[in-house]
Amino acid sequence: MWLMKPSEKIQPMLLGLLLATAAAEVCFSLQTPVQATAQGPASDAPGHDSRARSGKVVHVIDGDSLELEIGAERVVVRLQGIDAPEYRQAYGKASRQSLARLTLGKQVTVTSSGVDKENRLLAVLRVDGTEVNDGTEVNDGIEVNAKQIELGMAWHFKRFDKRETLARLEREAREAKRGLWSEPRPLPPWEYRDRRQQADKPRDPNARYWLNTRSNIRHNESCEYFQKSNQGRLCRADEGRGCSLCGG
Ligand SMILES: [Zn+2]
Repeated sequence: MWLMKPSEKIQPMLLGLLLATAAAEVCFSLQTPVQATAQGPASDAPGHDSRARSGKVVHVIDGDSLELEIGAERVVVRLQGIDAPEYRQAYGKASRQSLARLTLGKQVTVTSSGVDKENRLLAVLRVDGTEVNDGTEVNDGIEVNAKQIELGMAWHFKRFDKRETLARLEREAREAKRGLWSEPRPLPPWEYRDRRQQADKPRDPNARYWLNTRSNIRHNESCEYFQKSNQGRLCRADEGRGCSLCGG
């Protein structure tokens, strides 16, 4: 269902844009699709999908979100069903560039299923035109969400979108070691964000840490490696390097 009457949600969308831009690096983009609370306007033409609207991509925020101009509205779109590497992860920048190549300045059709916590429109995006910027010929539009997965520029966000096409495209990209799959052990962006969130939590002054004195890696008490190494000792929170599993 199309959620927004054109005039109603402009302020929240702008706020969403500001937040999304400010938080582009940290980007806790947990998607919680919400039920539509209001029916959008009836379809403008018979036979038209009332959820689908046309717009132009005016800004690419990262590999899975961008900004559209729909008439006089500016709308932040979160591509549904995919999760691109965060900016500081491997392929974070490449993923953004890829999305820009596919969409920037293009006319697109956007089909929305709701909004996320940051008030971004959750949507499937299709590029209307006949070519993309790198010269590749595309005839009757491509689904950008799927394309980012196919190119190895995003993960299939299974938790929120069970489409088998997306799962298959990810398997094929993995097998072909395209894009982010060329890395030996790519970290899912949702896990990366969880770890960042953990790392940002204030530390308990009584918490204990274990330093593996051979690897110089620090583990906290929740970690399977806490007090498990042969060479190690209890340590302070600022000693050694934080473990990539527990955050240290
Ligand atoms: Zn650990």
